Amino acid sequence: MKKILLFFCFIPLFLPSAGNAAGPETQLRVEVFPRKIRQGDVFLVRATGPASLKSIHAEFQGKKFSLSSGERQGSYEALIGVDLKAKPARVKMKVMAKGDGGKGYSKALTVKVEKVDFPVQRLTLPRSMVDLDPKTLERVNRESKKLKALFGGVREERLWKGAFSRPVEGEVTTGFGLRRVINGQRKSPHTGVDLRADEGTPVLACNGGRVALVGNFFFSGKSVILDHGEGLYSMYFHLSEIAVGEGDRIHTGNLLGRVGSTGRSTGPHLHWGIIIRGARVDPLSFLRLTKHLQD
Ligand SMILES: [Zn+2]
Repeated sequence: MKKILLFFCFIPLFLPSAGNAAGPETQLRVEVFPRKIRQGDVFLVRATGPASLKSIHAEFQGKKFSLSSGERQGSYEALIGVDLKAKPARVKMKVMAKGDGGKGYSKALTVKVEKVDFPVQRLTLPRSMVDLDPKTLERVNRESKKLKALFGGVREERLWKGAFSRPVEGEVTTGFGLRRVINGQRKSPHTGVDLRADEGTPVLACNGGRVALVGNFFFSGKSVILDHGEGLYSMYFHLSEIAVGEGDRIHTGNLLGRVGSTGRSTGPHLHWGIIIRGARVDPLSFLRLTKHLQD
């Protein structure tokens, strides 16, 4: 009698681990790509589950990311950015979904964020070039508040599709994450890449979006910022000319403006930046990743 009871008790324990007739929680499979994630990287989270999910999202570093339907039925994905100043650590990520009739699914995994030793550039410059007078300081603070407020916004509608492209050809002259120390004082790290290009070179949209902001700022000069939806923004700084207006609907390759050297810049180049849900990420890491996305 005892043996029979044991037999019946063990059956339900073994079935889920064999992977068939599994309970609701185990029906969601989650993977991240690439496997190695560093400060300033972008990664793709892909979940596979029932095709009929009503909603699915990932929670990472206190933010909620909606997953959209992927190329295959029952596959859902989202791009997640790791800020260049994110703490190197093992970070818990949870993916949660709701199916027909409110049935819940969840899956937890750990993402390891590795430290990057970004290069350091030490410069000695005359104080007049570095110190800002009170009026300029006030302008800089106002502009930085405006940008911060903009990047905090998340429009659910996705306006981009598939792989992103470079806004100009040309090599990187100043890399992402460079830490500048001027006259012994730490300055903000370089949150984009500088691309070499001649004055007047057309600057093209890296994907579909809407013009969220055009302006002439103290540091970034004539600037265009595109909102691609889902909290993803691309930035184009130091332009000589701007060819678009706020609110314009933009498609991949549309002309946004021309390369220049406006704002705090030592010569013509394009500063290109990408922000995902407030995380400042390496545009080149972002480009590499989106090559794997289909249209
Ligand atoms: Zn730059």
